[in-house]
Amino acid sequence: MQKHDPHLESYIKSSRSQYEDLLAQMVEIPSISSDPAHAADVRKMGAAATRILKNFGAEARMVETSGYPAVSGGWFVGNHYPTVTIYNHLDVQPADEPEWRHSPFSFQKEADRYRGRGTTDDKGPALTALFAARYAIEEKLHLNIRFLWELEEEIGSPNFVEALRQQALVPRSDSVLVSDTIWVAKQRPAIPCGLRGLLSARLTLQTGSTDVHSGLTGGGARNPLAELCEVANACVDAQSGDVKIPGFYDKVVKPTQDELKEFLASGFQVNRFKQAYQLRSLRTDNRAELLKRIWAAPTFEIHGLTGGHTGPGVKTVVPASGELKVSMRLVPNQRPDKILTLLRRHVKDINPNVRVVSDGKLEPFRGLSTGPYAEALLRSVQAGFGKVPVMVREGGSIGAIDHLDRTWNAPILFMGLSLPEHGYHAPNEYFDWGQASGGIRTFVHYFRELSQMGRQSAMKKKPKRSAR
Ligand SMILES: [Zn+2]
Repeated sequence: MQKHDPHLESYIKSSRSQYEDLLAQMVEIPSISSDPAHAADVRKMGAAATRILKNFGAEARMVETSGYPAVSGGWFVGNHYPTVTIYNHLDVQPADEPEWRHSPFSFQKEADRYRGRGTTDDKGPALTALFAARYAIEEKLHLNIRFLWELEEEIGSPNFVEALRQQALVPRSDSVLVSDTIWVAKQRPAIPCGLRGLLSARLTLQTGSTDVHSGLTGGGARNPLAELCEVANACVDAQSGDVKIPGFYDKVVKPTQDELKEFLASGFQVNRFKQAYQLRSLRTDNRAELLKRIWAAPTFEIHGLTGGHTGPGVKTVVPASGELKVSMRLVPNQRPDKILTLLRRHVKDINPNVRVVSDGKLEPFRGLSTGPYAEALLRSVQAGFGKVPVMVREGGSIGAIDHLDRTWNAPILFMGLSLPEHGYHAPNEYFDWGQASGGIRTFVHYFRELSQMGRQSAMKKKPKRSAR
């Protein structure tokens, strides 16, 4: 840990009880965005966050959308200084898993651990950045620091872009730092510099008006579920996972040797991965191959097949219709629109009666792994945690990133503070003071670097729009 900055260290130490009080207040508001019964709590969370920002001396407001508002605020120090926006979200996952050992929305402090839904995803990290910003502002850095706190992240950011379009309330930044990701292992800080995209679709087939008796019609009637299974088999190899849609892999950018080396240095372990997700066996047990597959390769998954009889026992029907629910995780430079066209064409070749209904899409994101911003962030994480971070990728998708990238066209970097053991999207979620205090150091260091970089030099070195 850094010891050479006694002023910052004493600020961190003296901030701890206020940090814990505020985290408790935030965790005890059950801001579950997916549950309409908690709509008032989500808005209450927005109001509480606005108040917290104002109490810290920042300007802040709720920015209304057709759904939940976003909270926007910060400090404006000077026109000629660079502006950075820190993105977090303050809505949470539901917490109805039976494994919770205490009430998920009552904050519990146990030595260095802070328990409760939302502690690590993403209220704890949001607050960490805020404490760092207050320090940086008191230090009179030449930097405008803004916060953008979303309240719809857990439901896929359906209205986030409406907040971004209100430029007077949510001004564009020179760069963005997203703090909503998980390290691969506690021993090694991880900076993700890529996210997979997503294309969801439903494949439907109707061959009759009502389910009929197989004794009376079987042999003559078409079977839509069997035909959808044929289509599924033509799209993906069930054993290897290889996607069989012609042209699917054409634009895939494979990870470089350097990237693969970083993946392997991340602390990822095959057995721990299996245990964490309770997987009995995998398509591969080879570490490098597995990492390539979950972070940097596209997929085709079948999520469900509905139709016919799914209740207990046997019912000898020939179904009238069926629906196959699928999605594809996409990697740079696959485009969801192009892949959808390929899927439609392929399905039509196999079975012209099957309809393909698109169900949502997110572009894959390729972040910065080189250049002044990435280098500043690497140095900052090292200063914050005393360890050299690794550059990894995330297999998942963050809807808000796509909107930020398109609307602002500014460099977007990731600095997450969650650990695998924190119970992200799982029961008994917690955050800890080690990650919070290391996070404050990291953010302060990063703010100093951005302030030194200045606006002009940052603009000059600003890359073109991220590769897709
Ligand atoms: Zn999150």
